[in-house]
Amino acid sequence: MQFDIIVIGASSAGLHAAKLLSEAGKRVAVFDRQDPLSPARRTMIVTSKWDEVLGKRPENVVLHSIDVMSVETLSSAVDVVLDPPDLIIERSAFILYLLIEAEKAGVFFFPGYEFRSAGGGVLRFATRDGIVEAEAPVVIGADGVDSSVARAFGIPRSPSVPILQAEIDLPSGWDPSVTKVWFDVEDTRYFYWLIPESSTRAVVGLVGDERGHLRSLLDSFLEHHGWKATGFQGAKVAMHHPKLRPWKEADGVAVLLVGDAAGQVKVTTVGGSVTGLAGAQAAARAVLNGTRYRDELKALKRELDIHWWIREFLERLDNSGYDALVRYMNPRVLELLRSRNRDEAVGLAWRLLLAQPKFLWLGFRAFTRRRQFPRLTPIGCTAG
Ligand SMILES: Cc1cc2nc3c(=O)[nH]c(=O)nc-3n(C[C@H](O)[C@H](O)[C@H](O)COP(=O)(O)OP(=O)(O)OC[C@H]3O[C@@H](n4cnc5c(N)ncnc54)[C@H](O)[C@@H]3O)c2cc1C
Repeated sequence: MQFDIIVIGASSAGLHAAKLLSEAGKRVAVFDRQDPLSPARRTMIVTSKWDEVLGKRPENVVLHSIDVMSVETLSSAVDVVLDPPDLIIERSAFILYLLIEAEKAGVFFFPGYEFRSAGGGVLRFATRDGIVEAEAPVVIGADGVDSSVARAFGIPRSPSVPILQAEIDLPSGWDPSVTKVWFDVEDTRYFYWLIPESSTRAVVGLVGDERGHLRSLLDSFLEHHGWKATGFQGAKVAMHHPKLRPWKEADGVAVLLVGDAAGQVKVTTVGGSVTGLAGAQAAARAVLNGTRYRDELKALKRELDIHWWIREFLERLDNSGYDALVRYMNPRVLELLRSRNRDEAVGLAWRLLLAQPKFLWLGFRAFTRRRQFPRLTPIGCTAG
């Protein structure tokens, strides 16, 4: 089989890239190991950038919207108004929507094709009927956090963290337009959250770190609040690192990684939906305009790098540092956080420092301390 572009992995980033390329007249194939494609259900919160990147809002994918992000530390709390509101989307509905859009644009979809290896410009897939070969001058690796494409082409992979969230009934009295995050570095270097997905249901979760007792932490958190899990959603998510270079040229094939395979995830919030779509757009632009992927990625990299630096700062805070951070959030800071969202960090960091100079003092104190947690670094690998 011969195509202009082969996309491996029917992830949101892969399908979006495939659609854009097919709309521009390219012969594009998407291969996914699942047959039928049945992505796991996952409740996700995204900023209003999500519609902007997609070009339109797929209404059947949006479950709900959120007007306030409430932040709590051990002895401080603050409410950040979100305007425009954040959106709550459901991942499996989103991926199936993108698949329909891609097929409408002319993309060939091959479910049940597991990418195994590459060599001499030929890709090999394991299928129910044995090994099948396919060729294209451009390969987009969109196969998620443990990318086999990255492995096969010897591209260093992003580090990853586990995420676990419990599905619960929305606690009585909880305003369904408010999402909340809790910081407690004794439990996780990241945070806990509660995200309402309707006026009756919510998810409660946390990002795990190297201490590794994710499920017992979540169980205790639920028990402490008197909430009961009716189901769980969990998986690993990739983390951006400034040293990642998600591309390679091998045997005349240009390989471009997108989404989690490329570590296109904000390491402050562990959100990868909007940034994965932005990575897909950059890949499509590079292929269609004949430009370098690294150049098309510059804006996204700048954005993701800022999140990386913010995390470098956060990981030097203890619980009293988090308390101070929240206490220092004055009206000017809250106004900035209201009007600029988490996908517009470029420019925001400096404005925040001007709005609250005490953040500088906190930053100075933090960066003169040792990190409390090991730094996550890319995973190198050899070509196979
Ligand atoms: C519990 C949880 C909650 C999250 N919440 C949020 C949130 O609130 N907001 C947000 O923005 N992000 C969130 N994320 C992160 C977000 O889900 C991911 O960043 C995003 O879904 C990653 O998608 P992807 O497109 O790169 O890959 P994936 O969705 O992982 O898709 C990879 C695809 O590749 C296929 N594949 C893999 N290997 C092969 C192979 N060898 N051959 C063929 N096909 C292959 C798989 O079958 C799959 O279809 C969350 C993640 C988790 C785990």
